[in-house]
Amino acid sequence: MNTHDDHTHAVHVTDVSMVFNEGEAGEVAALDDVDLVVEPGEFVSLIGPSGCGKSTLLRVIANLLVPTAGEVAVNGKPAEQARLDQEYGMAFQKSGLFEWRTVNKNIELPLELKGWDKQRRQARVREMLDLVKLPDRGANMPWELSGGQQQRIAIARALAAHPPLLLMDEPFGALDEMTREHMQSELLQICAATRTTVVFVTHSIPEAVYLSDRVVVMSAGPGRITEIVSVDLGRNRDEDTREDDTFYKKITEVREALRGSEMSSEARGIEDR
Ligand code: ADP
Ligand code: MG
Repeated sequence: MNTHDDHTHAVHVTDVSMVFNEGEAGEVAALDDVDLVVEPGEFVSLIGPSGCGKSTLLRVIANLLVPTAGEVAVNGKPAEQARLDQEYGMAFQKSGLFEWRTVNKNIELPLELKGWDKQRRQARVREMLDLVKLPDRGANMPWELSGGQQQRIAIARALAAHPPLLLMDEPFGALDEMTREHMQSELLQICAATRTTVVFVTHSIPEAVYLSDRVVVMSAGPGRITEIVSVDLGRNRDEDTREDDTFYKKITEVREALRGSEMSSEARGIEDR
């Protein structure tokens, strides 16, 4: 296992490699010797060209994929134990709500899996609907909600069982720009209120900078971390933050880091897909 530190990391990825065998196309090094530490309460984004291994890294942390080499710990537990203990919630680009279940029943699902009794489940669902500002939509079916509302319900479901960690893979990718910015602000408020640690995959530089304490920049062929940009914008970010000089500076810094990572990908013969 990893060396013993004096406190428990929310996520600790050590020397992780992931090789996929793609049949005739041969082997793909989706991740090559990746190290990453995320501290409790931190918001960390993964950004990089398509195919650089962002989703793979997230799935490895979630123990949905077992890496070819290396170690993953979540809240000090091996990844598999963390998954079994529901140490994290997940949200993806497609909300993943069950179409045949009401909003209430969707949010209740992880609580049923945890064996909570009905009364406790219903109280928690009401709390979560308030948190995502949709207090009156519990009886609706998912298709009766807008894309942004469905994404809020998906976040409510991911957080219902109080997981200390939230793993998100381009959750706002399908939303229009205004809804997307609104959702970003709400996510920050929700994370502050619940003190949840977040690992967030995105293609958008402004989104990564607005949300994150640190932006992890990756390159492809093989998937590696090339740079980590700290975003010292404080924790109380609001719509004015988007006009802040530091915000623009950080966007430039991440863009330059990305450019460097794409050039190093090209140098290794990887086309941007
Ligand atoms: P990203 O999310 O950054 O776009 P992915 O993590 O999805 O990148 O993919 C990284 C690389 O691994 C890509 O080359 C992709 O084709 C490959 N890959 C991802 N998942 C699989 C899989 N299940 N089987 C084979 N190859 C895969
Ligand atoms: Mg992806």
